[in-house]
Amino acid sequence: MKKEKLKLKDTIAKEKRHWVRITNSCNNNCLFCLDKENQDGTFVSFQEIVKEFKKGLSLGAKRVIISGGDPTIHPDIFKIIKKANSIGYSHVQMISNGRMLAYGDFAKKLKEAGLDEITISMHSHIKEKLEKMTQIKGSYDQAMRGLINALKYKFIVSVDIVINKINYKTLGDSLKFFIKLGVSEFDLLYVIPFGSAWKNRKKLFFSPEKAKDYLDKAFELSDNPDLFIWTNRLPAIFLEGYEHLIQNPIKLKDEVNGTQKEFEAYIFNNKERNCKGERCKYCFMKDFCSDLEAIKKEGKLTSKTEPICISKKKVKKYTFKLDKKFDVYNFLDFYIQHRYFVKSLRCTNCRYNNNCSGAHIEKIRKEGFKILKPIKE
Ligand code: SF4
Ligand code: SF4
Repeated sequence: MKKEKLKLKDTIAKEKRHWVRITNSCNNNCLFCLDKENQDGTFVSFQEIVKEFKKGLSLGAKRVIISGGDPTIHPDIFKIIKKANSIGYSHVQMISNGRMLAYGDFAKKLKEAGLDEITISMHSHIKEKLEKMTQIKGSYDQAMRGLINALKYKFIVSVDIVINKINYKTLGDSLKFFIKLGVSEFDLLYVIPFGSAWKNRKKLFFSPEKAKDYLDKAFELSDNPDLFIWTNRLPAIFLEGYEHLIQNPIKLKDEVNGTQKEFEAYIFNNKERNCKGERCKYCFMKDFCSDLEAIKKEGKLTSKTEPICISKKKVKKYTFKLDKKFDVYNFLDFYIQHRYFVKSLRCTNCRYNNNCSGAHIEKIRKEGFKILKPIKE
């Protein structure tokens, strides 16, 4: 069942979808918001949104994801959803904090406009914790009413949770609470060192060692065949025993989209990436970025080999050479195929720990971390 689910998830992950941002404003103020710097209280015009819809269709997307800020506060929200349908998308999804759905017939109108799916960010089922994260009093009651209304109007409903120091101990209970309400799909996002999250890092970041047992209480629910649990940027080290939850490596492409020029400016013009520095050690991209630094310095990079606890066999090596035609996506493909390696928390008990990169992520997704056997003195 786990293997079938993994296959299905990989198929969904490869599906073309087009994100369209419709507001630069939000009615929450989350401690970990990645978007705060882009929010100036404005809305994207209807004409611009239609242009974006057309662009997505021309790129082959059949699903559109409407986002913000929070999209529900756009004054033309119903018209925008109707347009997404009439212009040719077969599936219209919206990401929201859900608060506007608490009002009167808002959810009903979304349904009538043709919205298929709504992802509601509910970072905890505990009022005090949720409002600590959103920094808005009253946001819990509204979001809960919004979630209940979304379920009542029979949208496909999923819940987004940003895992952080405030909620990781109660994550399993949150999932159970939302499952009881009727939610069957969750996206568990890992807090990353950007936007407000970096400013509030002391309140948000936590160690895998301390969190593992708590998080497992949430991950073990993924055994239920009726539930879909996704992870987003959650480092594989957290997922020993639940490797089917490791995000498809292809999703790294989403991280490079939008920052491609910055990476290339680093390679060709020695322009350091703006985010480089103290935050790198918390960053999901740190291994990719250190490979980028290595190829810039050495001019070439070879594939990693299996760890000694799995095999001592010599295997064919692949090399990526830096030249004038360098393209960050080609390099990312090379990284994903030959250098995206991960380790277990147990590796700290191994004498080779300091000089070992672990095993390839696909091998771990298929065979599990159990194949790694720490070698003692
Ligand atoms: S690891 Fe890379 S993407 Fe992450 S903060 Fe550092 S330079 Fe930026
Ligand atoms: S147990 Fe971990 S550190 Fe040791 S050889 Fe295997 S992968 Fe490397």
